[in-house]
Amino acid sequence: MTEKNLENLFYDTLKDIYYAERKIAKSLPKMARGAQSPELKAAFEKHLEETEGQIERLQQVFDIIGKRAMGKTCEAIEGILAEGEEILEEYEGAAALDAGLISAAQAVEHYEITRYGTLKRWAEMLELPEAVRLLDQTLQEESKTDLDLTKLANASSNPTALAAE
Ligand code: FE
Ligand code: FE
Ligand code: FE
Repeated sequence: MTEKNLENLFYDTLKDIYYAERKIAKSLPKMARGAQSPELKAAFEKHLEETEGQIERLQQVFDIIGKRAMGKTCEAIEGILAEGEEILEEYEGAAALDAGLISAAQAVEHYEITRYGTLKRWAEMLELPEAVRLLDQTLQEESKTDLDLTKLANASSNPTALAAE
């Protein structure tokens, strides 16, 4: 029986976020197509590119620990993405659509931020400095994306949604 230690927990959590990132990469084009404002479309497209790089970084982290890159079903991201799809359908053509899409996207970013924060800390504990560097790069991208979405919501999507009341 394999020991259920921090090393194992690190590998399992890496599989969780690897699964999640690949799901997110599939979902972002739908979000970009659905978004009404060109700015939000561009933000989703930009983050799709970043997400592809993040998947590669995760593959590098799997390499560092000498384990096969594989995903493990993440129920959390399934649920968060399903909520995003719901908004896409239910708010199609509505003035509040973009505000809703941003809220859904921020739920994704926050899930990722908690995962990468934990993984980075565990990589420090496991003395894997290159993994720490890679995980931190992604953590910074997710945080920046979250912040950019807040700015977009404040500058246009929330006021647009409110004005339509
Ligand atoms: Fe990501
Ligand atoms: Fe998960
Ligand atoms: Fe992200």
